[in-house]
Amino acid sequence: MIPVTKPFLPKVQEYESYVSSIWERQWLTNNGPLVNELELKLKNYLGLSHLLYVSSGTMALQLAINALELMGEVITTPFSFVATSSSLVWEGCKPVYVDIDVETFNIDPRKIEAAITPQTSAILATHVYGNPCDIDAIQEIADRYDLKVIYDAAHCFGTKYKNKSVFEYGDISTVSFHATKLFHTIEGGAVFTRSPELLKKMASMRNFGYHGPEEFSELGINGKNCEFHAAMGLCNLKQVDEILDKRRLLSFYYWRALATLKASYPKLNTDLDYNYAYFPVLFDDEQLMLKCMKALENEKIYCRRYFYPSLSALPFLNPAHMPVCESVSRRMLCLPLYHTLTSSDLDLITRVILRVQQYENSNDFIPSMFAIETDRKLNAAF
Ligand SMILES: *Cc1c(COP(=O)(O)O)cnc(C)c1O
Repeated sequence: MIPVTKPFLPKVQEYESYVSSIWERQWLTNNGPLVNELELKLKNYLGLSHLLYVSSGTMALQLAINALELMGEVITTPFSFVATSSSLVWEGCKPVYVDIDVETFNIDPRKIEAAITPQTSAILATHVYGNPCDIDAIQEIADRYDLKVIYDAAHCFGTKYKNKSVFEYGDISTVSFHATKLFHTIEGGAVFTRSPELLKKMASMRNFGYHGPEEFSELGINGKNCEFHAAMGLCNLKQVDEILDKRRLLSFYYWRALATLKASYPKLNTDLDYNYAYFPVLFDDEQLMLKCMKALENEKIYCRRYFYPSLSALPFLNPAHMPVCESVSRRMLCLPLYHTLTSSDLDLITRVILRVQQYENSNDFIPSMFAIETDRKLNAAF
């Protein structure tokens, strides 16, 4: 079975040695030593002056929205994971969708201005698949209309833009360390800001707004993370360069193998060190995509439609018509990408896809392993 992703797991002995140290200290949560160590090591690794480790990427978004005191309408992208929109609604804001760019699949800055009203308080954009938005254009609009900017950088661990971590941009950036992300702490996330005031505020908010044992300085929530999750992060951080390298190699392998597929790939931003977080394929045609998905499932290879459907169709929101997003989300398929995939796995995946394309118009022919095996034997025989 080949799933779309597999969480990275360190050597169990390595994790166990952290667990033993937790047993010795009997300090399980509440800003413990492993949480502090992870925050410090992440700052060093990412080249950032500050970050706050929190319980999830969704919590990071909620803290960001709350700390910036956003109200009314927030301009956001319909092409993201549901948490980007649901966090806004949860915090009492109204998502206002702006369609995406047809080449990058990130929010289209040329369409933002038309959506701004006197109720608009901020822009919440996702760097989709780890590829940064048009940050300069978005910041220019935000400055002109006095809007805050939050980046949902859930996919961006390891991505650098203009030689800096992409987490440096916006008023606040957030990331997820969920088990499906390329760097993970099982559950977890972080918030980043260059503002000392916002940092202090979110640090307090993450811990119920505690100011001292008998004093609460502001409204807070339980956004803390614990020693066990931090331990997983410390193990995984040691391996993250290897994970990033492997994903880059696999991505190039895919691109080369799929050169004849009728499909396209996200146009990456310039000035970028990319993290190859996902392998998204935008098929020219939804029918071909669905046939490929089905044929892959027959071989026990499971892809995912990230992101389908468009968030503008969420049942708890008023529907909005986002033609580019709707068209892209119908045709997009993310292929398996994780550290233990091999080139023969990729050969199998890409050959199934190309076979479907080759036989697309011949009576719903689904290529089987038998056909691929025959193909391989024939090739070997000649
Ligand atoms: C994963 C993800 C989140 C949510 O992160 P959790 O840690 O699962 O709460 C938010 N936004 C995007 C774009 C994501 O991919």
